[in-house]
Amino acid sequence: MSLKIQDITTAIAAYFESVQPQAHIDNVSIDSRSLQNNASTLFFALPGQNRDGHYYIPELLNKGVVNFVVTHIPETVSGKANFIIVNNTLQALQDFAAYYRQQFQFPVIGITGSNGKTIVKEWLNYLLSPDYNVIRSPKSYNSQVGVPLSIIGINKKHNLGIFEAGISLPNEMQKLQHIICPDIGILTNIGTAHDESFTSQKEKTLEKLKLFSKVKLLVLQKNEAIEKLLPATTKTFTWSFNNTGNVLVNKLEKASATCLEVIYQDTIFSVEIPFTDDYAIENAINCLMVMLHLGYSHEIITQRLAGLYPVELRLQVKDGINGCTIIDDSYSADYQSLKIALDFLEQQKTHKKKTIILSDIFQSGFTKKELYKKVKELLRTHKIGRVIGIGETITKKLADFPNFFAYKTTQEFLAQYNSNAFEDETILVKGARSFRFEEIVVLLEEKTHETVLEINLNAIVHNLNFYRAKLKPETKVMVMVKAFGYGSGSYEIAKTLSHHKVDYLGVAFADEGIALRNAGTMIPIVVMNPESSAFNAMTAYNLEPEIYSLRELKAFIDLARKKNLWNYPIHLKLDTGMHRLGFEEHQLAELIALLRNNNFVSVKSIFSHLSASDSLQFKDFTTQQIDLFEKWSTQLIDALQINPMRHILNTSGIYNYPNAQYNMVRLGIGLYGVGNDPTEMKHLQNVGTLKTVILQIKEIEVGESVGYSRKYIATQKTRTATLPIGYADGIPRAWGNGNGYVMINSQKASIVGNICMDMLMVDVTNIDCKEGDRVIVFGKDPSVVTIANTLNTIAYEILAGISHRVKRIFYKE
Ligand SMILES: *Cc1c(COP(=O)(O)O)cnc(C)c1O
Repeated sequence: MSLKIQDITTAIAAYFESVQPQAHIDNVSIDSRSLQNNASTLFFALPGQNRDGHYYIPELLNKGVVNFVVTHIPETVSGKANFIIVNNTLQALQDFAAYYRQQFQFPVIGITGSNGKTIVKEWLNYLLSPDYNVIRSPKSYNSQVGVPLSIIGINKKHNLGIFEAGISLPNEMQKLQHIICPDIGILTNIGTAHDESFTSQKEKTLEKLKLFSKVKLLVLQKNEAIEKLLPATTKTFTWSFNNTGNVLVNKLEKASATCLEVIYQDTIFSVEIPFTDDYAIENAINCLMVMLHLGYSHEIITQRLAGLYPVELRLQVKDGINGCTIIDDSYSADYQSLKIALDFLEQQKTHKKKTIILSDIFQSGFTKKELYKKVKELLRTHKIGRVIGIGETITKKLADFPNFFAYKTTQEFLAQYNSNAFEDETILVKGARSFRFEEIVVLLEEKTHETVLEINLNAIVHNLNFYRAKLKPETKVMVMVKAFGYGSGSYEIAKTLSHHKVDYLGVAFADEGIALRNAGTMIPIVVMNPESSAFNAMTAYNLEPEIYSLRELKAFIDLARKKNLWNYPIHLKLDTGMHRLGFEEHQLAELIALLRNNNFVSVKSIFSHLSASDSLQFKDFTTQQIDLFEKWSTQLIDALQINPMRHILNTSGIYNYPNAQYNMVRLGIGLYGVGNDPTEMKHLQNVGTLKTVILQIKEIEVGESVGYSRKYIATQKTRTATLPIGYADGIPRAWGNGNGYVMINSQKASIVGNICMDMLMVDVTNIDCKEGDRVIVFGKDPSVVTIANTLNTIAYEILAGISHRVKRIFYKE
């Protein structure tokens, strides 16, 4: 891309306040963290429920960015950069993308539907890229922001576009249609449920179909009901399993593949795809339809479809050997996704040392020379300390790159692999599928058993924003990451929270805070239950104590005096009814006397904790707590002539008593996707999914028993699966003996017999599954809330009880 900033201003009909009116733009950014931001970047300051993009402008100016699209010019930066001023920056980004798209005339395929968009897009790219220079949406960039960013990747050499579009609200698709302007449409499928945002299934379908309002051809599975909703002018190209569409498909399932017999215009041919599940079959047929439409021969269709592969688009962060962190992106290697992966690497600030293992890059639209020049630039701006290149091309093109190690093939790398070559560093593993880098990831991964707790970092941000939206913009947020982030892991979450400008972190003990500091967290941290033995370490690591008693306060002041500390921040806890920790009314006078004219400590905040903010049945009690807090904190403030923050709300408090938000709230369980109220729950996204695998399958005859104490006796022929997870991993024993279940291939498998220390057995008599299959122990279903309710406890206990030996894997979608 190379555009004049003035042309952009005209295209999006905006007001321009410039210092360099002649500036050229060659890339667009919405993320202040990207190291790719530079003088020719146009930064769109997007609004967010979290911090607004405008907030990052001073920081970006320091990094050399000089072109911004804004709704207003923040006072401190006025006159220091080019500002394009618009009413709505997201709208401006979309208008800009629509304008940019109009510069190119080649055919574009637009994909939508409830499932399969990304898979169909990736597969089509694989199927068509031998013959076309394809530009496609990176990863699952299909949203109101993702689609414009995808379109902006187009350049002159591309001659086919494949973009996906996803919506969650009414009136969104029209905008995406306007940006993508597809010529060929694919409707993957429409789920039977309608999302909350739509009044009916029909309304949702109509909204999705808007993507196709101007297509020349729409590919879909034959469906009278949907076709009735299309404008009469839309030309369809349909397939079906029962001879009603343009193309008839007969399927024959084999052990690990499906044979499709395709009948089209009096010819019959067959293709075999290496999948057996219904979704994959539908997705493959949709791809096949596009190939038929584009005039591919049956031979080529058959040959290429046989090579379809599972699509994995998530960047996964895993614990590696020798203290390394692995970012696994071993399924694609194109320029767009390399940019995304490097930005992601930058955000994982766990280690200073950064290594990338990179295969040959496949990217149409550039000559090899241009492409590798750009790749080198990227690696340089991202300060990658060591590059391990694998492949015929990359070894030549990057040969002169500093600290470059070359291997012709993955096999050669594996043969010479030495685990000692990797230590305390972040390793990005990024390779095209054909390089089979998953074998490298297996070697680099820390070996533990196969039970993992996957943490969705996007869901954390979503949940944070849900609660932020309930607060005044100026209200600060402290996030409680005590108990290893409610069992979800603390550093990675702290890193995400730090970018989203959370104001404080709360931990229970000093060592939790020290671990966060060692991992690089700079956010202020409050230690909720400090022991005086840890005061020294706390001051060394800049951790702020909760002060709850006169004895503790005196001890801390003594230490501050000895260490010559001045105005060390402390947080006073008042006991308004919880009766756990905190000052009571009769102690306030002495507290005031101790703090008056005391320069060793400074009261940063005064707070209290609600004991029943989740049950409205105790509304009077809670209101009384809030009233006492108001009264006592005011008394302290007046007597000491100070101006501290005040806070009393936890998650349910934010939900039920937002009026008492004072200057800050303390968000805990809600961030991890658990609300105490069913309506609240509906708005939260699930954060943790506990997964394991089937170790062994057994046939149990009538009268035989399963597990310790013969608790389960088969009354009919039963098939059981044994899973490597037990009460030592944190699964309560009470969840066994038919009380609980796990999900295997989307079906409930009830737990039979007693749960053992490291294993449990489930009934899979009616479930199609095999050894090695994935098992979901909790996540969306069963949710931790379901488990907790069944067992008469609370989700907090289940989450915090998941043992440390269960490996945590963090991912971003
Ligand atoms: C744990 C804790 C919180 C957070 O509570 P949630 O119910 O998880 O939101 C807030 N304040 C204090 C003092 C806590 O100990």
